[in-house]
Amino acid sequence: MTMTLSPETRADALQDLQAEELDVLIIGAGVTGAGCALDAVTRGLRVGLVEARDYASGTSSRSTKLFHGGLRYLEQLDFGLVFEALKERKLALQTLCPHLAKPVKFIYPLQRRGIDRIYAGLGIGVYDVMGAGRGVPQHFRHLSRRKTLELFPSAERTALTGGITFYEGQVDDARHTMMIARTAARFGALVATSTRVTGFLREQDRVVGVTVRELETGTEFSIRAKQVINAAGVWMDEIQEMVGGRGQFRVRASKGVHLLVPRNRINAAAGLITRTEKSLLFVIPWGSHWIIGTTDTEWDLDLAHPAASQADIDYLLDQANSLLADKLTRQDVVGVYAGLRPLLAGESDSTSKLSREHAVASPVPGLVMVAGGKYTTYRVMAKDAVDAAVRGFDRSVPPCRTEDVPIVGADGYLGFWNARCQLAGQWGLRVGQVEHLLNRYGSLVEELIELIREQPELGEPLDSAPEYLKVEAVYAASHEGALHLDDILARRTRISIETWDRGVAAAAEVAQLVAPILGWDAAAITREIEHYRLRVEAERESQHQPDDLSADAARLGAADVRALLSGR
Ligand code: FAD
Repeated sequence: MTMTLSPETRADALQDLQAEELDVLIIGAGVTGAGCALDAVTRGLRVGLVEARDYASGTSSRSTKLFHGGLRYLEQLDFGLVFEALKERKLALQTLCPHLAKPVKFIYPLQRRGIDRIYAGLGIGVYDVMGAGRGVPQHFRHLSRRKTLELFPSAERTALTGGITFYEGQVDDARHTMMIARTAARFGALVATSTRVTGFLREQDRVVGVTVRELETGTEFSIRAKQVINAAGVWMDEIQEMVGGRGQFRVRASKGVHLLVPRNRINAAAGLITRTEKSLLFVIPWGSHWIIGTTDTEWDLDLAHPAASQADIDYLLDQANSLLADKLTRQDVVGVYAGLRPLLAGESDSTSKLSREHAVASPVPGLVMVAGGKYTTYRVMAKDAVDAAVRGFDRSVPPCRTEDVPIVGADGYLGFWNARCQLAGQWGLRVGQVEHLLNRYGSLVEELIELIREQPELGEPLDSAPEYLKVEAVYAASHEGALHLDDILARRTRISIETWDRGVAAAAEVAQLVAPILGWDAAAITREIEHYRLRVEAERESQHQPDDLSADAARLGAADVRALLSGR
């Protein structure tokens, strides 16, 4: 039996968090905090992880979703960072989460004759050598103009003179982060979402724990711990201010926006990466859609709900259209999401020139802060933060083990994958449905099949989002820690960005399915559906505003469901 993140285990974790002194308490269940929890608990420590909203509800559900070395860092001659990230890419693809992370093929289009092939070819060649044999199916390849157009028929013919292909890793970041937290819970970490840190417990100059507000009920309590790790991403400074002062470094936010368009709007057998004036442009296959991103602009407005403006969307469409023969329009945009890069504050004014390298510091005894870095290197960040936290312990603590600790669902995944045709017959599902489940749950798929056996109608697709089965909504609530419709529609599934109505119809269907698990009565069902509808409305409204200020104001028209419940 695998550890579940059920409402009952959450309730038990909340009890235990109050009852004992922990070795390490981590603030924030983005990929960094979840990674810290897994790192610390697999060293034999007593660990707690508290998250104000949902797993990955901050930046970690809103990235470009690549495990990558970062071509941009190569250009900045940051070989150390590229090398480290390529090692992590291989680990993810081959060992830690082959069920979730997949290789994806990209074309780097060449525009200027001669010079581009030399310059880009050299860069991608070095990149390939640094990552040689590191978990991807093929080395880089130079393509003629004709071959490039064969692979990417939708490309604007006059916009390219050839191309170079290479591979990166791709992951559903929100599912991956939640599954790291679930793996930590499996080893005994106490994890609780909807639990916001509101202050610190101090003894003289030492931090000895935190005070929290449980947002489902509004209850407040304290958690004692020998060490607290602040892994709050762009909220880092806010938490540092609770202990007084800003800590040893600051974190600033840079907004990145992505769009989703239907897969049939671009005819191509590979993704596309190219440089733009300000950042990089990615066009990446994502199930039955393409993800197009991203922007890179300073953001100092609401951190919880960064809003994409009309200007962001137009910018991305313009950038993509400069390479596409059949131009995309606003009507092609199915979904939009915006995230905030937690950047270490540096000397440069331009956010895209700031390094993504991370920093760890201990501003006061008992408190460690970790920030910066990127999704790909979360495991290294977690190791460095936990190393710093245990330095002051009066007993020896084993070193980091996470290189050898696969994420739940990885164990046996490849066997299930090879057997998928037989399993489809046994389970009464189509092969495509079994593949979909295996790539989202790995070997945990058996738990979903068990639920279908008990209730066969759960094996049917959702009426309003047929790429997902009903059982996935139920499982999100019973096994994956989802507490609200938002959690299910935006992070356990991606219905909120993959359907034309942004999940409004699915909200009603899913609410009925999960109500018995989450203990919702008729009033709670109505409240959840209404909240979700308002959220979608506010997001749509913000995306028609000309700039960040007006987009932010429009988005703030719908409050966070957790803030509503707790009266804040
Ligand atoms: P977060 O995910 O933001 O987690 C912090 C958590 O702390 C949040 O969940 C928040 O709710 C919680 N929190 C805040 N305050 C409190 C409190 N008081 N109490 C309790 N909890 C609290 N990296 C890559 O490697 N590959 C990519 O393709 C990539 N693309 C990106 C694209 C964009 C547009 C952006 C914005 C970033 C991208 N990144 C990428 C970077 C990567 O996504 C981030 O570095 C990473 O997700 C940061 O994770 P984190 O855990 O540090 O922060």
